[in-house]
Amino acid sequence: MSAKIENLVENYSAVRESVANTKQYGPDVTKPQGPWLLDYVKQLHPRRLRMRVTEKFDVTESVKSFHLVPVDQYLPPFQAGQYVQVMVDAEGIHTGRPYSISSSPAQRGYYEITVRRKDDGLVSNFLHDQVQVGDILTTTGPAGHIYFNPLFHSKKQVLLAGGSGITPFLSMIREATDGNLDREIHLIYGCRTPDDAPYIEELRRRAAMHPNLKVDLVISEPDESWDGPQGFITAELIRSLGVDVEGSTFYICGPQAMQAFLAPELAKLNIPGKRIRREMFGAADDITQDAAWPEEISGDTRFTVKYGDQVISASADETILTALEKAGIRHESCCRSGECSACRMKLVSGSVFQASTVLLRRADMKAGYIHVCASYPISDVEVAD
Ligand SMILES: Cc1cc2nc3c(=O)[nH]c(=O)nc-3n(C[C@H](O)[C@H](O)[C@H](O)COP(=O)(O)OP(=O)(O)OC[C@H]3O[C@@H](n4cnc5c(N)ncnc54)[C@H](O)[C@@H]3O)c2cc1C
Repeated sequence: MSAKIENLVENYSAVRESVANTKQYGPDVTKPQGPWLLDYVKQLHPRRLRMRVTEKFDVTESVKSFHLVPVDQYLPPFQAGQYVQVMVDAEGIHTGRPYSISSSPAQRGYYEITVRRKDDGLVSNFLHDQVQVGDILTTTGPAGHIYFNPLFHSKKQVLLAGGSGITPFLSMIREATDGNLDREIHLIYGCRTPDDAPYIEELRRRAAMHPNLKVDLVISEPDESWDGPQGFITAELIRSLGVDVEGSTFYICGPQAMQAFLAPELAKLNIPGKRIRREMFGAADDITQDAAWPEEISGDTRFTVKYGDQVISASADETILTALEKAGIRHESCCRSGECSACRMKLVSGSVFQASTVLLRRADMKAGYIHVCASYPISDVEVAD
C-alpha cells in the first residue's frame, strides 16, 4: 500500500492551508496554459520594473514612505518580507539599494517602501530630497529569503526588529492581520526613542484588534516619561516578555550592530539555527571596526582595482562594487549585503577582506569568486565577470 503524502511530509497540511490563503487573499496564481507561459513567468519574476512614485509621505522625522506602481505591467506578487532594489542616478553615480516592501502582499495596487534617512547616505538622502510624486524609478523584481515558510517555520513567530528593520515585519503583520491568518506573532521592536519608531501607532492599533499579535516596543534612550521595556533586546528581556522560546521561529531584521549584539543573546536561549531567520540591512557602516579587519591597513589606504582594460582607484574601506560604480562601471547587484550572489565576480589576483556576513557558496569559494558588494580591497586586485 503506498504511503499518503500528508503522512510523509511534516507540516503538509500547513502548506496546503497557506496555499489556500494565498489563493484567497493574495495574487491570482492561476496557471495559464499555452505558449505565452514564458511571458507570464517573466511578468511574475521580472528582472527590472519601471515604477511610478504615486505617494510620498513622512512617517517620522527621519523616515518617509513611497508608493510605487508599475508603469508597464501588473504588480508582481511577492512574499511578505521580501525587498526590491531601487536604482538611482545620484550625484553622478548609478547605483542601487535594497528596500523591503512594507505593504502587504494582499495590497495589489502598489509596493510601499519605507526609507530612513542616513547621515551622509547617498541613496536614502536622494530618495528623501530629490524623488517626487510622478517620478519613475527602476527597481528589481522582489527578492529575498526572509519570509514565512509553512513547511519549516512555526506559526508562532517572534519578530525582532531594530529601527527601520521593522519594514519586512510590517508587511508580514499587515498580511496576517488583514487576512486573519492563523499565526501567533510577537513583535519585539527596538528603537532609540518612541518618536523614532516608524508605524508604531498602526502596529499598536492592530495588536489591540488582533489577540494573536503582541507588540513590545523596547527603547534604548528613554526619557523619564517612558515606562516600558528599555535598553537593548537581550535573552533576559525576551524571556521576561513571555516569548515561547521553544515553540517559535525567530526572525531578525536590523542593522549589523544589532545583529552582532543579538547573536550571543539568542545563543543563551539555545535556539537552534534552523529556527532563526536573519536579514542584514546592508553592508557595514565602517568595515574597519570588524573584529577580523587587518589592523595594519587603515581605511583610507588606496589600492587599484583592475577590471577588463580599466584600472580604477579604491579606498580600502569601500566595497569593490561601490568603487566600480563611482568609476561609472555598471555591475549587477541586488541585496548589497553579501548574501544573494547577484554581484558575484572572479578575483583574478590580489586579496580582499570579506565581511563575516558574506554567504559564499562553497563551489564559488573554491573557484575564486567573491561577492563584490561586501568585499573590500586590501591589496591591488583584479576582478573579472
Ligand atoms: C535586504 C535589505 C532591505 C533593506 N530595507 C530597508 C528598508 O526597508 N528601509 C531602510 O531605510 N533601509 C533598508 N535597507 C538599507 C538600505 O538598503 C541602505 O543601506 C540605506 O538606505 C543606506 O543607504 P544610503 O545610500 O543612504 O547610504 P550609503 O551611502 O550606502 O552609506 C551608508 C553608511 O556608510 C557610510 N559610508 C558610505 N560610503 C563610505 C565609505 N567609502 N567609507 C566609509 N563610510 C562610508 C555612510 O556615511 C553611511 O553612514 C535594507 C537593506 C537590505 C540589505
